[in-house]
Amino acid sequence: MSGEDLEQLHRALRLQEALLRSMLNIVPDGLVTIDTKGIVQSFNPSAERAFGYTAAETIGRNVNMLMPHQHGHAHDGFLKRYLTTGERRIIGIGRIVFGQRKDGSTFPMELQVGEVNIEGAHLFVGFVRDLTARREHERRMAELQAEVIHLSRLSELGHMASAIAHEVNQPLAAIGNYIGGIRRLLNDATPPVLRQAIERVAAQAERARDIVNSMRGLVKKGDRPQETLNLETLIRETSALALVGTDSTVALDLVVPAEPAFAHVDKVQIQQVVLNLVRNAVEAMDGAPGSRLTISIEPAGDRVGIAVADTGPGLPDAVRARLFQPFTTTKPDGLGVGLSICRTIVEAHGGTLTVESPSEGGTIFRFSVPSRTDAEDAVP
Ligand code: ADP
Repeated sequence: MSGEDLEQLHRALRLQEALLRSMLNIVPDGLVTIDTKGIVQSFNPSAERAFGYTAAETIGRNVNMLMPHQHGHAHDGFLKRYLTTGERRIIGIGRIVFGQRKDGSTFPMELQVGEVNIEGAHLFVGFVRDLTARREHERRMAELQAEVIHLSRLSELGHMASAIAHEVNQPLAAIGNYIGGIRRLLNDATPPVLRQAIERVAAQAERARDIVNSMRGLVKKGDRPQETLNLETLIRETSALALVGTDSTVALDLVVPAEPAFAHVDKVQIQQVVLNLVRNAVEAMDGAPGSRLTISIEPAGDRVGIAVADTGPGLPDAVRARLFQPFTTTKPDGLGVGLSICRTIVEAHGGTLTVESPSEGGTIFRFSVPSRTDAEDAVP
């Protein structure tokens, strides 16, 4: 090889090395290389951030200093076993393990290990992704979901109380009418004890009516302000919340118009409608392969329609006719008030909640809310 060729080769090598070094410096994952004895050979800046050690503090030392005590202990054994048997436990597979920082705290991390074995040089490369932030995010999402479910249960109870109050008022009114009739039949010959008993019945019926009326008043006082919102944001957030912790095989498609659609709504109530429809759809699909949830936003003049379509088994015949009536359910632990509440909320927004059973299967629920073209006061 001529001197010129050699110089060219060196330049190419230097370029490769500089490229590699700049990549190692900026990759967001921690990168640690070790030799066959577990001794750290390189430690990039992301690894420094994740573990709190500098490269100088780790290079030349055993990598088990980065692991909680019990794992660190076993690591030399794992390495030895791999080198003698070739049996892969982590290389090329990746798993979630715990790392230990310089301050002694531990954190969950995703570890991928690669291997370089050429011309007598044998190294392992560990890619480390700190999962602390992701775990915190997942915990917060689960917390939020529990809160929303709790709130929606409370609201279900409120609506249930209102429905019961309405039902109980009818017989109470009838009792009042009958008592009026009986009073007219009373005369001088009526024994005083009977007269007294009838007055007591009247007083108790009156009291029951007052209790029921004050209960209805309490439920009605929940009038909430309306705001102008970007529907896509609202639906995206609410459906994400509804899907947390459910079967991850459900694919979600959001079909949105070219221009963002704004709606003037009671945010919490419309969130409750979306949450209910999405939860019902996911429960109906029950994680069946190919499950797909499609939510479409369809502007139509001064209203904007929302369709929630699933690929579930369709509506059971037993509920079809009474679908929107309270206490209609096929679920062992269902209250059966979700859809009746959804309908009340949608009607309070000037729309209707309808259902379709498409010939290709599944179920589509549709409703609409008032749209706002002037989005100046909108929350994005
Ligand atoms: P719950 O969910 O408590 O049963 P709902 O009023 O929300 O109360 O729903 C009533 C019933 O309607 C459900 O029990 C179920 O049988 C049926 N249903 C609702 N949504 C769907 C859907 N997307 N696919 C199939 N059946 C549904």
